[in-house]
Amino acid sequence: MMNLAALLHSLRCSLLRAESRLLQAAGLDRVLAPALAVNGPSLLPQIDQEEQQSPEQPPGLMDSILWMAAPKKRRTIEINRTRRRADAKLLKLKTNIEPCPECGHLKQKHVLCGFCYAKVCKETAQIRHQIQGMEGGPLRAPTVETIVLYDGETPSQQDKDKRIVEIARKRPTWFSQ
Ligand SMILES: [Zn+2]
Repeated sequence: MMNLAALLHSLRCSLLRAESRLLQAAGLDRVLAPALAVNGPSLLPQIDQEEQQSPEQPPGLMDSILWMAAPKKRRTIEINRTRRRADAKLLKLKTNIEPCPECGHLKQKHVLCGFCYAKVCKETAQIRHQIQGMEGGPLRAPTVETIVLYDGETPSQQDKDKRIVEIARKRPTWFSQ
């Protein structure tokens, strides 16, 4: 009976010893038992550090990426809104806007009214079109001055010698002579 127990004990001890040796050889154990120290490079074939890594990790996609600086902390929404709604970023208040005295559309004080200007452009284009029809082609304009007369208008004394373009409708109130 005692013999069997001693045999089991010695077997267990040898198993434990073998296990600890294996762990030590694999480098997994924390407590280093006294072991034989040998000069590694002279006995073992040496492997280059770079060669050791390259077969396991082939160059991936991420290696070629240039990593940019990234914020370390998230900025709160209050701070972001304060920045976005800063005084410098808001639209400036305009004080130079007034209604046009002719048509009532809003315009800048020192600028022609766009609405009135478009009306005048349209009227002038019609007059030009009529003049083109009278001349019958380009570069046939007479050398005398031209006046435009609307319906019901007569040329004054000083306009006798000038070319008269008659428009067959009433003069618009905003189109001065
Ligand atoms: Zn106007």
